[in-house]
Amino acid sequence: MFQTEAARKQRSKFLYVVAAVAVACHVGDLVLLGGPSLPALAVRLAWGFCLALLALAAPHVRPAHFERVVTAAGLSSVGAWVALTVLTGGSPSPYFDWMSTLPLIVGALGPGYVWAVAAVGLATIVANALLLVVEGAALPSHLSWLSFSIAVGGLAVAGSKMQQRLRAAEQRAEEARLRAVDDLAVSEHRRLHAEKLALLGKLSSGVAHEINNPLAFVKSNLAHLLEQHGGGAGCAELALLREIVEDSQVGIERIEGIIDTLRSFARVDDAGLQPCSLAEVVDEALRLASAPLRPVAEVRRSGTDSLPRVMANRGQLVQVLVNLLVNAADAIAETKAGRGVVRLEAWRTDGLVVLDVIDSGPGLEPAVQQRLVEPFFTTKPPGKGTGLGLALSREYLKRFDATLEAQNEPGGGARFRLRLVPATAAQRSA
Ligand code: ADP
Repeated sequence: MFQTEAARKQRSKFLYVVAAVAVACHVGDLVLLGGPSLPALAVRLAWGFCLALLALAAPHVRPAHFERVVTAAGLSSVGAWVALTVLTGGSPSPYFDWMSTLPLIVGALGPGYVWAVAAVGLATIVANALLLVVEGAALPSHLSWLSFSIAVGGLAVAGSKMQQRLRAAEQRAEEARLRAVDDLAVSEHRRLHAEKLALLGKLSSGVAHEINNPLAFVKSNLAHLLEQHGGGAGCAELALLREIVEDSQVGIERIEGIIDTLRSFARVDDAGLQPCSLAEVVDEALRLASAPLRPVAEVRRSGTDSLPRVMANRGQLVQVLVNLLVNAADAIAETKAGRGVVRLEAWRTDGLVVLDVIDSGPGLEPAVQQRLVEPFFTTKPPGKGTGLGLALSREYLKRFDATLEAQNEPGGGARFRLRLVPATAAQRSA
């Protein structure tokens, strides 16, 4: 409730004020008693002293135990009140009439402390009853006061409980607000990062386009050169030149391949679905992911080349696979246990094509597994992970009725399973 140091000090100051008021009210006694009374002054001083002691202790009490301070202050007040009632003439005294309001006062001053209010309520009922019994009051008078005290005590407890609920709701709302502000800041940061990535994608597609033109004429020049000197293999220099040109052509073809995949990767590709060769998609994804993958893992593939075509958007399926491969590489690199293995295993079952990407990394922690496809969820350091890869993958896969599942391998590592619809089945159902 009042958790901060400042709030506790404020409460203690408040108790000092109540103590001072309790003593100062002796003036009221003079009126009620018709003259100065030493016993009444002694009661007031003892009461004030008691409250001051509690005020002194209040800042050092743990928040969870503060209700005990309030209870002690309330019960000491009931004691003082009873003493003053006796000193001012018993049940005819105005103190007797006001005693039943003590739980209400405690409820108002210590909001939400239900047990303190209940204890004070019970104490006033008992005190009321005892005073009437000692005085030998008639039964109707007993019953009337008792029911009044019970009603007021019940009201005070109910009010206090309501206040407690209100305060708890207020606190929850405040916590939720603070969490939302934090989440907003984090997601704004990640949105900016995602925008930067999107821009990078567009830029790389532009750069790929620019590179393609000079590459085309370098390629055609090399082909021309080869054609011209193709027959002159007798001369050693020409043979060497031919070898160099052929090597250069292979290199250029490789660059062309990378450019092609870069362009298809960066394209905002809503062009729809087409039958895709899984073997080609895997080739392309492996080529794109080779930079992070090659230094940390050996890739083993089985079954990927002999399966029917699947219905998908090729660019998006490549993107999904690249993401899985990069994640696998990151997971293996994280173990720092040397080179690992990434297995790509594909087969056909129940009319679907299944492709597993299995890595020898640390596997998925339960907390991570639950949040894998949550947008912006990442365990990677800022600048490395965006938390968008699996979320986007799931969105892409949904578009072609494919699914993605993740689980841990019994011997360690993670297994991501793609279930894809074969093109023939998709065309039949269309
Ligand atoms: P990012 O890679 O940018 O973090 P992803 O959505 O691709 O975003 O992945 C979300 C999180 O899932 C990763 O940060 C990582 O904690 C976890 N993860 C994904 N793949 C693997 C894997 N193969 N092994 C262990 N954890 C993984």
